[in-house]
Amino acid sequence: MNLPQQPFTCPRCHLLVEEKDNFCRHCGKTLKTGQTFFYSHTGIILLAVLIGPFALPCVWMSKQISLTAKGIYTAVLLILGVLLVQMCYRMYQLTLSVTQGYLGAF
Ligand SMILES: [Zn+2]
Repeated sequence: MNLPQQPFTCPRCHLLVEEKDNFCRHCGKTLKTGQTFFYSHTGIILLAVLIGPFALPCVWMSKQISLTAKGIYTAVLLILGVLLVQMCYRMYQLTLSVTQGYLGAF
């Protein structure tokens, strides 16, 4: 029994699209979930540099990178997150002491 080929439709506008298309030609929606640029190694590294630990969902949702790579990215991003929090805390303390010193001058 040969099932008729299921037509590919866009998940957003429900118009017909080609199976090989990466984006819907009608509304521009990404058709390859988990396979866009942001799920590739380059995309994840770029995101990690730009938004740090917030890139983690992309790491986990990616279908392009291996489980080992996901583990490594997760570890690196978590360490990065801890460092970021520490840095923010130091900045906060510095701002606080500067503000207090400034106010103390009056
Ligand atoms: Zn569409």
